Amino acid sequence: MPGSVLHAPPMPTAPVTPALLDALRSIVGDKGLILDEHEKQPFLTDWRGALTGQAGAVVRPADTNEVSKVVRLCHENGVALVPQGGNTGLVGGGTPWPTHQGIVLSLGRMNRVLAIDPIGYSITVEAGCLLEKVREIAADHDRLFPLSLGSQGSCTIGGNLATNAGGVQVLRYGNARNLVMGLEVVLPNGDVWDGLRSLKKDNAGYDLKHLFMGAEGTLGIITKAVLKLSPPLKDVCTAWMSIRDLQAAIEILSDAHQASEDNVGACELMTRAATDMVLRHIPGVQDPLKGDSPWYLLLEWSSSRARNDGTEGMSEKMENFLAEQLETGRVLDAVIAQNETQALNMWRVREGVAEAQRAEGPGLNYDISVATSDIPRFIDEGVKAAIQISPTIRPYQLGHIGDGNIHFSFKWPANMAPAEMLELSPKVTRAVNDLIVSMGGSISAEHGVGIEKLDELARCRSKTELDVMRTIKRALDPQNIINPGKVLRL
Ligand SMILES: Cc1cc2nc3c(=O)[nH]c(=O)nc-3n(C[C@H](O)[C@H](O)[C@H](O)COP(=O)(O)OP(=O)(O)OC[C@H]3O[C@@H](n4cnc5c(N)ncnc54)[C@H](O)[C@@H]3O)c2cc1C
Repeated sequence: MPGSVLHAPPMPTAPVTPALLDALRSIVGDKGLILDEHEKQPFLTDWRGALTGQAGAVVRPADTNEVSKVVRLCHENGVALVPQGGNTGLVGGGTPWPTHQGIVLSLGRMNRVLAIDPIGYSITVEAGCLLEKVREIAADHDRLFPLSLGSQGSCTIGGNLATNAGGVQVLRYGNARNLVMGLEVVLPNGDVWDGLRSLKKDNAGYDLKHLFMGAEGTLGIITKAVLKLSPPLKDVCTAWMSIRDLQAAIEILSDAHQASEDNVGACELMTRAATDMVLRHIPGVQDPLKGDSPWYLLLEWSSSRARNDGTEGMSEKMENFLAEQLETGRVLDAVIAQNETQALNMWRVREGVAEAQRAEGPGLNYDISVATSDIPRFIDEGVKAAIQISPTIRPYQLGHIGDGNIHFSFKWPANMAPAEMLELSPKVTRAVNDLIVSMGGSISAEHGVGIEKLDELARCRSKTELDVMRTIKRALDPQNIINPGKVLRL
């Protein structure tokens, strides 16, 4: 995390020699090789500009065959490689360590949609496809690919699956791993595992695809995927409301499932502080509901059934629901988007937070999850614990409240010296993570472990769990050449 000292674990030390470069060039050609220091920089620095590493070369293969040959070459020479998609990850999983001697393997050129089957609700893509492109192509065929993230214009399917990304539709459709039928993966020795099956049911042995999803590129390189599609949403209602408190938020969501007839698509928590930060930094965004209430919800209900038969649609249901919730005192004020522009604006407020946080200055971000009903207690105790360590720290809590996933964030005061941030960061982290563990929660709900949570994962998970993870890693990658120093210290 920005502001704390990260100690590199032991790494494979075989360097990229001129002979290895020649061999790489013979596989991927000049088009697939970046050696210029300036051109390499975007691949060596993470999205936030918080972490920077090294690599002898950035290698950009054009297809699975080239990936396989590059990985085999690295395997034979003990050269480490860091897989990378859109480089939008928020924990440094795709950023090489400063001590990295090997290559970055960027999948960005492998961006073809290979097949779409609207009748069978599936799409087959290469790993470097941008998430937005997959969503657009599905929509062109009157289908929905429901994974939706603020970074969808830049992140890739390979990165989404490697991080088991969450986003704003998990409540209904599940995490990225729930949207996958089959995978093709290049293993650490260069062999290709062809699991590119369009099967909804497949109990023939271990379900290997789930090993590679969420592994953050430490077990193999995802090269292709068969993804599940859904019917497109034809009736959508988006509302923004100020609410009494956090307990009200989870009660509103609890009631919403039935009132919407199981059509809750998203339920996002915002604070006044986070909303104001977005309004300060993201041009063109409007405040959906002026006021000084501390807590807000973005609630979206959606159905694939078009409302042209005179029956009550999502907007009418939402209006009735909000009127009831106003009466209970849980909702203080509310506005329903009257058109797509207003709905998009509400989403821009929520999804503009990551960009606004980057512009606002240094801070601490914890992507945590606890049981949904524990959220009020977690936020209350977590904020108190952080303030006890640093009385001037500014909380910006928000997140996917329906998934029990809070982006528990803080900004340092503008005048704080970097040395003081460096001293306080580990103390706040320790207090927050101890609280999470005591509540049976997770220190990483959707962003992964990467570099940033390496040591905290080792502290927060049992020896048994870590031993199983290490055994799997060593079995597949005995030389530790695939994304070394991420997720686990070996
Ligand atoms: C504005 C913004 C909003 C975001 N919102 C969300 C959100 O709501 N939910 C969420 O979950 N995340 C979110 N993220 C984080 C990030 O976008 C996701 O983690 C995304 O899935 C990463 O995709 P990527 O292609 O950029 O992967 P990268 O950042 O390039 O890589 C991420 C990890 O995956 C590995 N990897 C990448 N490609 C492959 C591959 N083909 N095979 C094997 N391993 C691979 C890398 O080594 C690394 O460990 C957000 C980020 C930003 C900047």
